[in-house]
Amino acid sequence: MWYFTDEQKQLVDVCASFAKNEIAPHAEKHDTDETFNIDAFKKMGELGLLGITADPEYGGAGMGATAATIVMEEFGKACPGLTLSYLAHSMLCVNNIETNASKEQKEKYLPKLITGEHIGAMGMSEPGYGSDAVGMQCKATKKDDHYSITGNKMWITNAQYADVVYLYTRTGSARKDLTTFIVEKGMDGFSVSKEIHKMGMRGSPTGELTFENCKVPLENRVGEEGDSVHHMMRNLEIERLTIAGISLGIAQACVDQCIKYANEREQFGKTLGNFQLIQKMIAEMATETEMMRTFLYDSCKLWDEGKVSNTRAAMVKLQLPKMATKIALDAIQLHGGYGYSREFPVEKLLRDNKLNEIGAGTNEVMIMIIAKNLLNQMK
Ligand SMILES: Cc1cc2nc3c(=O)[nH]c(=O)nc-3n(C[C@H](O)[C@H](O)[C@H](O)COP(=O)(O)OP(=O)(O)OC[C@H]3O[C@@H](n4cnc5c(N)ncnc54)[C@H](O)[C@@H]3O)c2cc1C
Repeated sequence: MWYFTDEQKQLVDVCASFAKNEIAPHAEKHDTDETFNIDAFKKMGELGLLGITADPEYGGAGMGATAATIVMEEFGKACPGLTLSYLAHSMLCVNNIETNASKEQKEKYLPKLITGEHIGAMGMSEPGYGSDAVGMQCKATKKDDHYSITGNKMWITNAQYADVVYLYTRTGSARKDLTTFIVEKGMDGFSVSKEIHKMGMRGSPTGELTFENCKVPLENRVGEEGDSVHHMMRNLEIERLTIAGISLGIAQACVDQCIKYANEREQFGKTLGNFQLIQKMIAEMATETEMMRTFLYDSCKLWDEGKVSNTRAAMVKLQLPKMATKIALDAIQLHGGYGYSREFPVEKLLRDNKLNEIGAGTNEVMIMIIAKNLLNQMK
């Protein structure tokens, strides 16, 4: 365990117990059926976790990146899919509103998002614009007393359940002419046009959103026209750290499964744990997981102190999901044929983790950011 404060240690215990009782027992079923554990999600509101970084004035817990990452790690061990939905709600929607919206907007939207009465999502990616998100084409046009929004948003986590969408749009022809809105379910012209079926993270609903002359009141614009890139920059680091937290949970779950299996499974009259090749695998994956933990929570501490750099957060987002994929592959290997089957959770952990190398910025995009920052520093 990292050097947590007493409050953070308590949070670990609360999350671990909730994950054991409310999340883990249902994870396999939600993966198989591609369904969302909405009951557990709503209960996260009762525990005060849905607004973990939001101001207590609106019902939030007022905590930082370390706390949010603790939740991701503990829930990620039990069901990465549900944890991804938790991340989309608490980091991509709630924390963005907390960081960028006006007092009136926070008063209107945060309390219900924080209790779990409402579910949140964030719409940035489009069918033709993913890594190049700033090229987005979903267009908002100002009319007399409202904006009219037309376009599509792709890969939106929680789309089918979202009551509130934190939405990025284009309001001008220059690349950075992007404007943010808070859009509500039920606004004229807003619909969920497609449900997306995935390799992993199947316990997290993903969909495409369509806006057809969607009428959004002026007061739902966040900040001024053209503010979106600034909004995106302000939330980037915590998004990257917390998604890496899910990969840490996945890696730890793989280690735990492997130790258990190596102590139970017998071949050649001995448990697997007696074989040095198996010992090497376990020793290495446990060591790698500990390295992930140290790098991640050290970076979260920097975030909490207002000192994390864009480069460091990108390094974490690059390295942790990659390491967890390797660990999950080793875990399948250690389980042999059973690891490749659906009887054991390690194949699911691999499928789930692969998303973390793509979502919230791909590995390649992280490499581009790190290299660009480092090379610019040296100029
Ligand atoms: C399950 C899931 C949930 C998601 N949830 C959300 C959400 O809630 N909200 C949201 O807005 N988005 C969400 N996304 C979208 C996600 O952020 C994008 O998928 C991601 O940014 C990559 O974009 P893309 O899929 O369009 O891939 P592309 O950008 O088309 O990339 C394809 C490949 O090309 C590489 N590539 C692209 N540009 C370069 C370059 N310049 N140099 C080298 N390589 C390059 C990429 O790394 C990748 O390997 C989600 C995606 C998934 C799969």
